[in-house]
Amino acid sequence: MPQHHHSKVLILGSGPAGCTAAIYAARASLKPIMVHGIQPGGQLTITTDVENYPGFAEIIQGPWLMQQMEAQARHVGTEIIHDVIVSCDLGQRPFEAKGDSGDTYSGDTLVIATGAEARWLGLPSERKFQGFGVSACATCDGFFYRGKEVLVVGGGNTAVEEALYLTNHAAKVTVVHRRNAFRAEKILQDRLFANPKISVIWDHVVEEIGGSAAPPSVTHVRLRHVATGAVREVSVHGVFIAIGHTPNTGIFRGQLETDGDGYLVTKPGSTRTNIPGVFACGDVQDKIYRQAVTAAGTGCMAALDAEKHLAHHAGEKAAAE
Ligand code: FAD
Ligand code: NAP
Repeated sequence: MPQHHHSKVLILGSGPAGCTAAIYAARASLKPIMVHGIQPGGQLTITTDVENYPGFAEIIQGPWLMQQMEAQARHVGTEIIHDVIVSCDLGQRPFEAKGDSGDTYSGDTLVIATGAEARWLGLPSERKFQGFGVSACATCDGFFYRGKEVLVVGGGNTAVEEALYLTNHAAKVTVVHRRNAFRAEKILQDRLFANPKISVIWDHVVEEIGGSAAPPSVTHVRLRHVATGAVREVSVHGVFIAIGHTPNTGIFRGQLETDGDGYLVTKPGSTRTNIPGVFACGDVQDKIYRQAVTAAGTGCMAALDAEKHLAHHAGEKAAAE
């Protein structure tokens, strides 16, 4: 039997942004509801070692960190529901959302923390080594390749920035691009070409990532020339896929302002969207930093912004009565 759930603060997404918004909203006695989505815990649940989330001197595991965040959100009073939101109506108040389960949700305020997904090549071998030599985040995992050889796939700003960043750690960085020209900005390209640690293999795609099974680790990639079909092998310890991200904003299309890449636009210095009472935090509104700690930071901001919005409207209502 479908149910209806109402909250003063309805939070969509259970990654670092959603969990942090939930912790702050619950501690403000706003009894938030957080809807898990298809990936409970978000992107950190598909990685292994996390070494840059402050507060932990030892390396921690991404899935463990997210279990802790969710447990903390629940402990302080968040209601957590397993569902995936399939549609939203932001044209009425309270805001309405419909779940895949058939349940409906409403919120006096809405916190959107639906994140973004790294695009992958879609190879079975890429999946096999994800978190064990295959990564989509150089800032997160570059440190694990000190003195080693790595490969970056892609030709946009992200790929070039990731390659440059990786030279701080790796001995050698090879960029593989499927065309013979980057689409990255000229200034970034100039830096890349001037860096003696970086070499580029043009007109090639990754056909397979190879390695050993126990412990899982990458040893090489097989590349194919896009025109001739010629195959070659390159020895590497790590592969960074940098072919873009897709923000999870489809359900808000036409209702909330987005930039050219589909990311939600927030007012500078806040998490406010173009609809008063709707707040966005984490990777869904951030294509630059994309870190767990920045997602958590903006999650905190979204809860504080929602609290302020509710207090302001409660004050207005009281004055009118
Ligand atoms: P996400 O973590 O993407 O979570 C989004 C949430 O929204 C999910 O729970 C999902 O189920 C939910 N959702 C989506 N659509 C819907 C819907 N329709 N209805 C309801 N819910 C929905 N960062 C670091 O700081 N350190 C690291 O070491 C690190 N390693 C990484 C390794 C990998 C492989 C990847 C991919 C990322 C890594 N990152 C790391 C980046 C970090 O994971 C992200 O910056 C962070 O998770 C973003 O948090 P978020 O809460 O904004 O979104
Ligand atoms: P992007 O600009 O879309 O570039 C993706 C790259 O990956 C392209 O070079 C593309 O090749 C390649 N690619 C896509 N699918 C592939 C596949 N299946 N196999 C092999 N290669 C594939 O993505 P992005 O670099 O993540 O940038 C996204 C947005 O963020 C852009 O607007 C960018 O300017 C912005 N950004 C800005 C900065 C900055 O200002 N410093 C930093 C990072 C990102 P083709 O070139 O052949 O299409």
